[in-house]
Amino acid sequence: MRYIDEYRQPDSIKGLVAMIKEISTKPARIMEVCGTHTVSISKNGLRQLLPKTVSLISGPGCPVCVTATGDIDRAIAFAESEGVILATFGDMMKVPGSFKSLGEAAAKGADVRVVYSTLDAVKLAENNPKNKVIFYGVGFETTAPTVALSILEAKQRGLKNYFIYSVHKVVPPAMAALLSLGEIKLDGFLCPGHVSAIIGSRPYEFIATEHKIPCVIAGFEPADILMGIYMLIKQIEAGESKVEIDYGRGVKREGNERAREIMDEVFEVASANWRGIGVIDGSGLALREEFGRFDITKALSVDLPEAREVKGCGCGEVLRGVKLPFECKLFGKACRPERPVGPCMVSSEGSCAAYYRYEGEAILKEGEDDSR
Ligand code: SF4
Ligand code: SF4
Repeated sequence: MRYIDEYRQPDSIKGLVAMIKEISTKPARIMEVCGTHTVSISKNGLRQLLPKTVSLISGPGCPVCVTATGDIDRAIAFAESEGVILATFGDMMKVPGSFKSLGEAAAKGADVRVVYSTLDAVKLAENNPKNKVIFYGVGFETTAPTVALSILEAKQRGLKNYFIYSVHKVVPPAMAALLSLGEIKLDGFLCPGHVSAIIGSRPYEFIATEHKIPCVIAGFEPADILMGIYMLIKQIEAGESKVEIDYGRGVKREGNERAREIMDEVFEVASANWRGIGVIDGSGLALREEFGRFDITKALSVDLPEAREVKGCGCGEVLRGVKLPFECKLFGKACRPERPVGPCMVSSEGSCAAYYRYEGEAILKEGEDDSR
């Protein structure tokens, strides 16, 4: 199949690995910002193919994982309110809040429905006029346009009972925030392909110019990722920092203008609370004033006890790149995909889930061997 197979060919993989080995002379710490990159790296064993000079670190690239505990608690409180139907994508069901997950709230009677598109949520509102139907908007720039579209659709259909709980986040400010924290030294960013298909490459330019960190936007197949790493190493070795696109088939410099227009029509930039990082200015999306009637935080108030983090959960450090998943002391022990302690083990794009599923046995065995 064109467009997929050619990016998985063993010969091109071997060739790219050889090219990286040839030019890499000094240590390079590269953060893959996107959760799908992390999964692809683990699943295809790319980490093990790279020379010792290149370290890959997972970043805050999964929207499920970076949703703050307090925001999860609020969604659960909305779901438990009288007359509410909360519509969500399935990956939020198992993520633990301070006291329970949405799935547990549903088991105790909250009306939570898993939908497969935002338009399903609009239909749910149309079919249940006596209920408040809330779409729980978790996601990056990738999903925000479809949520914006659902609001325009609800407006057009004259629905008064459709609401959004927006915890949407935008990625570039979080990358800058990680650099500003100064906890980790990074030499390059492998930027997310899907997010960049919407926003283009321009929003990363300040990272290259002001923070002097090279950025390469890469696709998700093994050859895409290795080529992205090669392009980063080339910049790092040459002491350059610019934004490059190694995913021309998916990303243009200006992004997807129509999707950006829809997103900008409905949302405006706001601050957002990121798990493990905290509140970052300009990193969230709130409904514009003219769409305020769709904002559930204005239509329904809920009492919330103070958010609590699980003792020993290392998700915040993993999301900041300070710890690798297996450096969390709960990894593979108290925390496993079948009974996750933190969101990074729940989400299919979570780093802990990816490491556990594809590299876990080797990692845990290495740990056992080391402790002998
Ligand atoms: S939404 Fe797309 S860009 Fe964002 S983490 Fe998932 S795959 Fe990566
Ligand atoms: S192993 Fe579990 S608790 Fe530790 S960082 Fe990963 S998800 Fe969080």
